[in-house]
Amino acid sequence: MEDEVFAAAEELRRGGVVVLPTETVYGLAANALDPIAVSKIFKIKGRPHSDPLIVHVLDDTWIDRYAYINHYENRIRALVESFWPGPLTLVIKKRAIIPDIVTAGFSSVAVRCPRHRMFHNVLALCDFPLAAPSANPFGYVSPTTAEQVRQTFGKKVKIIVDGGSCSVGLESTIVDISKEVPKILRPGAITAEKISSVLDEPVSDYEQIVAENPTTPGQLKQHYCTTTKLVLFQNGHCEIPSVSSGKVAIIFNKKPSNIEKIMKKLPLSIEDIFWLSENGDQSDIARNLFATMQKLDGIGYSVIFCERPKRDGIGVAIDDRLLRAAAKYQVSDGKGPCLDV
Ligand code: AMP
Ligand code: MG
Repeated sequence: MEDEVFAAAEELRRGGVVVLPTETVYGLAANALDPIAVSKIFKIKGRPHSDPLIVHVLDDTWIDRYAYINHYENRIRALVESFWPGPLTLVIKKRAIIPDIVTAGFSSVAVRCPRHRMFHNVLALCDFPLAAPSANPFGYVSPTTAEQVRQTFGKKVKIIVDGGSCSVGLESTIVDISKEVPKILRPGAITAEKISSVLDEPVSDYEQIVAENPTTPGQLKQHYCTTTKLVLFQNGHCEIPSVSSGKVAIIFNKKPSNIEKIMKKLPLSIEDIFWLSENGDQSDIARNLFATMQKLDGIGYSVIFCERPKRDGIGVAIDDRLLRAAAKYQVSDGKGPCLDV
């Protein structure tokens, strides 16, 4: 095991906060059973206390320590067998051992077993669960590399364990299984269809949140925001807003075949054109999205244009993050040239 894994476990045992890699995004972790340690996460992130944290466990045998499983045993068994360790979070009724600060006072707790080996090893050394939201300032793009975390939290957190680029790149799917009909609270790599098929019962799918005051915590209309203006488009279907001044960047889902045509329509050069996958593979798009958004943010572009994905499979989750990231801007003003590529 790496030295930094031992150092992270030691710091967590002392009630500290460390950054750990997961397969979804990098997490800012603390002992979930220690309210003082957990309060440090909220402070470092600037996260409102109304937004509950996910509790990360070593394996399914830990669920019973922190949540009441009896009513939902069949559902838990089926989902854990198919998707754990992995990017699926289960919301279940909590036991009293989980402090209220973790669940924002709710009677339920969100539980996940991450797949990243280093996170797993830290959990095994600690023998307590870890609360770990994404390691970014509240509302900003989630980090999928250790370098991205260093840029924002390098001075605030002593231990940032580098586990490479996150293989999934988007936060976990969250499903509330304590409801009569299980409900998707956040879309992710594990889709509603997959969950429904494993449970062999209907699942109420995620609905894009448009309200400013959503009923479920953490479903803010605006989130994952870059500081540079982000404008979404749908390739060939949507007009690009007119750009009055400044350099622009454009992010496609796949490598465009007609780069010259694009350059004629927008004030950009070849270095300002990016793509998230070679051939449109949705997993590649998810994996590269946040890192590309952060790479292009705050480096002098007046606007970043980003193409929306097809809304199927993990595309629902990618589109959810993009819509929230761009929520404070118009999608299109209809006055610019139609990209039509
Ligand atoms: P993250 O932002 O990745 O840390 O995920 C936290 C999100 O999980 C919150 O914003 C909520 O949407 C959801 N969540 C966590 N705990 C609960 C809970 N007890 N009940 C419902 N949703 C929860
Ligand atoms: Mg987050």
